[in-house]
Order: sequence, then structure tokens, then C-alpha cells
Amino acid sequence: MARIGFIGLGNMGGPMAANLVRAGHAVLGFDTVPAAREAAAAAGVTIVELAAEAARDADAVITMLPSGPIVRAVYEAADGILPAARAGTLFIDCSTIDVDSARAAHAMAAGRGMLALDAPVSGGVGGASAGTLTFMAGGSAEAFERGEPLLAAMGRRIVHCGGAGAGQAAKICNNMILGISMIAVSEAFALADRLGLDRQKLFDVASTASGQCWSLTSYCPVPGPVPASPANHEYRPGFAAALMLKDLGLAMEAAAATGTETALGRHARDIYAAFAESGHGGEDFSAIFRAISAASKP
Ligand code: NAD
Repeated sequence: MARIGFIGLGNMGGPMAANLVRAGHAVLGFDTVPAAREAAAAAGVTIVELAAEAARDADAVITMLPSGPIVRAVYEAADGILPAARAGTLFIDCSTIDVDSARAAHAMAAGRGMLALDAPVSGGVGGASAGTLTFMAGGSAEAFERGEPLLAAMGRRIVHCGGAGAGQAAKICNNMILGISMIAVSEAFALADRLGLDRQKLFDVASTASGQCWSLTSYCPVPGPVPASPANHEYRPGFAAALMLKDLGLAMEAAAATGTETALGRHARDIYAAFAESGHGGEDFSAIFRAISAASKP
């Protein structure tokens, strides 16, 4: 069993660390927020006072943090996790961050003789609790081979996407499809409403025809057709609109950096930005249907 440092014990990191404990690993955790530390301690994580303490003598250090600048700081600060770890330690960053920061984290780790993976996740808080996350990993074959058994304790599907940053690239490309497709499905239901077409009938046709997609069949943005979707539960997240906005922002940063034309991705980002700015960032991202419907003429 491994000795694992875990930095960032929030909505995702807390239950992920708990699953590592359940799998029999010794988990030393750190978070700047007391409530996160207390919840993790109740799940069997040994809480330490500094991130560096979690990294000392660890076999692997996992980070689950809000942003690229925070990951870089936690890695490289004088009291950060890289200077504290012994050579050969595996660093796995599961946060969703910009590709440049992910690559910088790899370079920092390599510069100190460590192995590294970027391994962002899909599956949300429900998947983190149930241990059914999908991991998209970037890094060397050696790092992936070492990291895979640890990721398997927290997820069901682990895909090695390529070298440094490939996991983040896969994550933001996937979520750009998701953001665009949710808006597309929502516009179709808004149009169906105004054409007097029954929502269930549209679902019955499109879910088995060429309009089929995950936003429709698994996460339908109108109440009724898919009972488990947030639309049937007051649009409680699920996956909050603010997080969708974050991921679309990362995709647009990457598109700008690479000169990629992503007109619909940009439009989707703007639509979610307006939605979040009008006070809906905490709702599930499928609640965009309500905004689209409300903006349409009666
Ligand atoms: P969160 O805000 O609940 O958790 C982040 C935690 O990091 C917080 O507890 C915070 O106190 C801690 N933290 C911040 N700075 C720190 C520092 N310097 N040292 C130690 N701890 C620090 O967020 P979350 O929902 O758990 O998301 C974490 C990451 O996972 C994000 O990158 C997010 O985009 C990604 N993600 C989230 C979801 C989701 O549904 N929530 C899904 C997929 C990916």
C-alpha cells in the first residue's frame, strides 16, 4: 500500500482522498480551509499542517486544486510539495487547469527528478464519491504505469492520452463539445415548445436519430424525458454553470494560444459568462435551457 500526499480536499478532492483511504492507502492530506480538513479527517485522512509535510516521504502526491496558478505555487513554493519530496516521487495533478500550467508543472517536477502526470477528471462530485471518475492522463509511460493503480482506486476509466498536458487537452476539448451541445439541445427544446411540439416526442425522435448526444440522452435539460437529469431536480448541480464557464475559458485560452478557430466554443463561453454574471453560476449548466427559453418571445 502506498503513502500518498493529497493537497486540496474540497468537493472533489475530499471524496477522492476518502476512496484512497478505503483502498488501504495511508493518505496525508492538506487544505487551507478548516471545514475541508475536518471532513477529510472524518473519512480517515491524516491531516497535516503544511502541504510540504504531505509530500515528505510520500510515494505519490495528488493535487486537486482550483487553478493553474495555485497548482504552480503549491508545486514550487519554498514550502511547496516539490522541494519537500524525495527524488522519484510521482506527482499527479487531477485539477482542471490550463495546458500551459500543466506543462509547467511537468517541467518543474522533471527538473527535480520526479515523475508527473496531469490527470483531470470527468464525472463530478457524484463520480468522486462513488469512485467512478474518468481520468484523462498525460505524461510518460513510466509515470502512467505507476499512477494507474492509484487512479483506479478513485475511478473506473483511465485513459493515457499522450505526453505532458495531453490529459488537460482532452478534458477541455471534451468539455467544449459538452458546452456547445448543451446549448444546441436547449435551443432545440425552446424551438419545439414554440412550435407546439411535445418535448417527449422530440426526445423520442432525436434520442434515436441524428440529433442524439449525451446532453440530450443522459442529461436532458428539460424536465421529464430523463428522470435522473438535474432538470428534474430544480437544476441542482451536477456540474455547475460556473465550472462549465471555467472549462470553456480554458478551451478559449488554448484556442487563442494555438490559433485555432472555435467560433461556437467562443459563443458558448459568452453565453455561459452572461448566465453566470446574471447570478446563475451555482445552478447546473443544463439550466441554460431556462435562460434560452426566457429570452425567446412568448
Ligand atoms: P473546491 O473549491 O471544492 O476544492 C478546491 C480545494 O482546494 C478547496 O477546498 C480549497 O480550500 C483548496 N485549496 C485552494 N488553494 C489551496 C492551497 N494553496 N493549498 C491547499 N488547498 C488549497 O473545488 P472542486 O469542485 O473540488 O474542484 C477541484 C478541481 O476539480 C477544479 O480544478 C475543478 O475545475 C475540477 N473539477 C471539478 C468538478 C466538479 O464537479 N466539482 C468536476 C471535474 C473537475
